[in-house]
Parts: sequence; structure tokens; C-alpha cells
Amino acid sequence: MRRLPVYFLIDVSESMAGEPLEQVQEGIAAIVKELRADPYALETVWMGIIVFAGKAKTIMPLTDIIQFYPVKLPLGSGTNLGEGLHALEAELNKSLVKTTPDSKGDWKPIVFLFTDGRPTDNPKAAIENWKKKYGSSSFFISISFGNNTDSELLSSISENNLTFDATDKSTFNKFFKWVTASIKSTSQSIADGNNQIIDLSKDPNKVISKNLGKSGAQIDENVAVFLAKCQNTRKPYLIKYTKTLKQSEIPEFDFETLYFRLNGAFSVDEESYAELSDSSPSGKHISTEELMGFPTCPHCGNQFGFSTCACGNILCTGDEEITSCPWCNVQAKFGFEDGHINLNRSRG
Ligand SMILES: [Zn+2]
Ligand SMILES: [Zn+2]
Repeated sequence: MRRLPVYFLIDVSESMAGEPLEQVQEGIAAIVKELRADPYALETVWMGIIVFAGKAKTIMPLTDIIQFYPVKLPLGSGTNLGEGLHALEAELNKSLVKTTPDSKGDWKPIVFLFTDGRPTDNPKAAIENWKKKYGSSSFFISISFGNNTDSELLSSISENNLTFDATDKSTFNKFFKWVTASIKSTSQSIADGNNQIIDLSKDPNKVISKNLGKSGAQIDENVAVFLAKCQNTRKPYLIKYTKTLKQSEIPEFDFETLYFRLNGAFSVDEESYAELSDSSPSGKHISTEELMGFPTCPHCGNQFGFSTCACGNILCTGDEEITSCPWCNVQAKFGFEDGHINLNRSRG
């Protein structure tokens, strides 16, 4: 039986923290569940998952959908698409069965790239390399979550460059149903003896918009993410803010100001985070005055999850007498400044 390999190349950069990552995770579980109930898919579909942030990793090698179990998606810092493409290519080299004079190999693999941000590396060489090796022997579909991606760059990988506005759970559900439908219809057309084609137009709910030819105009980052460490458990967590416009509080002034509103604080697995992250600093600088809302610590529940140490790092603080910084190990008394939750080391 010839296999139909389906790969998910998933951006697990920090901006995916929280709901987007959970939705992708649930979405993949839903895809597997539905494909298992489909006789054509059951016979042919194999799935694999490769994730990338600053670095890339195969977290699920190509597996038939009966054996396939949904794995927990990790997080890392950076969006090195080039690394992701290299890892994908290595995975394909390793697992695809090639057609020989005596036997037919696998069907053309289908690759779904999910990304929500602009690459932090320069992936042009990796893209050229990918196109040379697998450009014509795979179906590559890139799906942007939101409009903060480089559509011009993504269009250079494949003409199947789609934008999905991730807004709520039901839209996500529709989106994953669409992904499932395109896999199903491919396995069915193969079973019917047709050529392998992918019909991406079957989008009855219009959750996806085709994004061809749109210029790669520079769009500001939609999210700001900070890495913090818990003082008590010493474990890392991410604090995520979403860009938002706020109407002026003074009625006479009709203007809107830009803020970053708290989205949440999310614990991350230390080991996989280190493994997938860029070692270079992000260089992101945001004044805490632009931030609206501060989280509690997702590890220990400490009240102030966004306290800053003189070493420049973020930690959680509570009502302890002496705070010890999990980053620089300095022990000191922390105090409020200007009655603001932006904590700095006190002078006392
Ligand atoms: Zn804590
Ligand atoms: Zn410190």
C-alpha cells in the first residue's frame, strides 16, 4: 500500500504561547480522530510533526494514523524558518519510500506550514534548497495565522499561501476541518485511481483567505513576549501581551493610543524551551508603561509575575522579606516604584 505522507511544520515561537498553540494542538488531535474514521485516509495517510522556533526538531516522525498520538507542542524563542525547512528536508530524506523500477514509492508528501510571524533568520537559501529538492515532488501549503507574516517570502516557497485569521475557537475548529477535508479528498482521489491533486478551494466557511501577490509590507509586531523565571521553582514562563488600541480617557480628545494588553502568563518546559531557542538575545525593548495588566506567576501563584531585577531579568515576587533572583542569584529587598507594579530593586 502506497502511503500518503502528511507533514505539519509548526512554528512554535513564543508568540504562539497560550491559545494559538493549544488550538493547533487540539486541531491536530481532531484531524487524527476524523481521519481514523475515514476508510480511505485510514489506509493511506501517515503523519509527522516538525516544530521550529530558534531551532527545529522532529517531535513526531512519520507515523500511520492508528499509531499516531497527539504530542504536546513545545515552545522556543526565535522564528528560524530556514532551520525548519532543513529539518523537514532531513525528515523527508529519511522516511520517504522512493519509487523504484520494481515498486511504487510513497505518494507526494503534503506539507502544512503553520506560522504566525516573520522569520528571524534569513531563510532565502534554505527556501531555494527546499525548492530544488522537494519543490516539485511535494505539495507545500503555508498557512499564516494572522497578518504578521511575510506573505511575499511564503509565496516564494509555494503558491499555496493562505491566511487564516485566528479569532476564536469555532473559527479554529472550522479551519482544522478544512485541513482534514483536504487530506481526505486527496486520499479519496488516490483511491479512485486519479492523479494526486490537492483541492484547496473547498472552503465552504470561508475561514481562509488566499493571500497571493500581497506585498510584504512591514507590519509591526502584534505581540510582545517576555521570558520570566519563578523565584520559588526557578522554572521559566512566558508573559504575553497583545497589541491593542485604547480610546483616550479624556472625552475632549478623540484619539487612540497603542497599548500592549496582557494576554496571559504561560509556563514553559525548561528543557525543550532551551533546546528550541535562539541563544542570541531578542533585542526587544518595550517600556513597561505601554503594558496593560500584569500576571501572577503561573508556577507558584506569586502575586507579581512581572517584577524586574537590576540584572535586567524578570521574575516573580510575592510578600517575601528577601527576594532571591533566579537569574543572577542576588538576594535583595524589592520595593515598589511610583506605586507602580513595575518593580525595581529598592535603594534601601
Ligand atoms: Zn513563581
Ligand atoms: Zn537578577
